[in-house]
Amino acid sequence: MAKCLFCQTSETKTVFKEFDIDYLRCKKCGHLFSSFERNAHYDGYFENIESESQAVEYWNISHKKMYESFAKRFMKNGSGKILDIGAGLGFFVKFAQEKGWKSYGVEISKGGYKYAKEKLHLENFFCGKLEEMGFENESFDIITMWDVIEHLLEQRSILKKSAELLKKDGVLFLHTPNGEVQLIKSRLKKIFFGEKERSHYLEAKDHLNLYKEATIKKLLYECGFKDIHFVHLPPIQSVAGKSDNLKVLVKNLWWLGAVLLNFLTFKQVNIDNLFVMAKK
Ligand SMILES: [Zn+2]
Repeated sequence: MAKCLFCQTSETKTVFKEFDIDYLRCKKCGHLFSSFERNAHYDGYFENIESESQAVEYWNISHKKMYESFAKRFMKNGSGKILDIGAGLGFFVKFAQEKGWKSYGVEISKGGYKYAKEKLHLENFFCGKLEEMGFENESFDIITMWDVIEHLLEQRSILKKSAELLKKDGVLFLHTPNGEVQLIKSRLKKIFFGEKERSHYLEAKDHLNLYKEATIKKLLYECGFKDIHFVHLPPIQSVAGKSDNLKVLVKNLWWLGAVLLNFLTFKQVNIDNLFVMAKK
């Protein structure tokens, strides 16, 4: 039975039903998580990736704006060492390499690894668990995890290992959905449009844990990080993997509203996705 990663309790209430899967809230601490039981080292992503070349290309294009903004702000002194964990198909590793950084990627799925090696020709791209990679401690300036932490069941071991791998003044960067906002959006979607087979809600089979500012901070503190703060980067320029101009426009307007609201409330209210910076 699924347990809260903070309290280890199964005392929960169902807050959303995604088809036949319950999304749960811990009665003790309020953390949101999926009841879907999955292998802790699930590696089935990107299995049929070669037959989806158009979708892959679009995925790359739609992330560019976000990556560029990241590079502009955090990779200014152009020659550090960067590690992308859960690197997927390798597009961010390639992007960082093109910016002049020595870039490394780790990905657990064989499909993603194969793509990164064969199509993107990435040299420093590895398949497997981070803990088994044998990277030198205190050797990276930046470690990134783009849309990874919400997929993990053993997030603590990876975060602790990341802290070891970072240089003393290194920075960890995470991007993850804002759980409470996703929950409200999913509820509204169901109310207004009904439950539809192909709709995206909380992604209960993939997003096993959904965080908010307080819970992601708590997790990072537990794993040896400090100076945790939240930034804003432009969102992925697609909606549910599709290029729908109107929906992307709405998404960008929502984002601008979120940035403004965060500013006007002196960072008390954050309805943007969670872009987290942390030091060790
Ligand atoms: Zn809890």
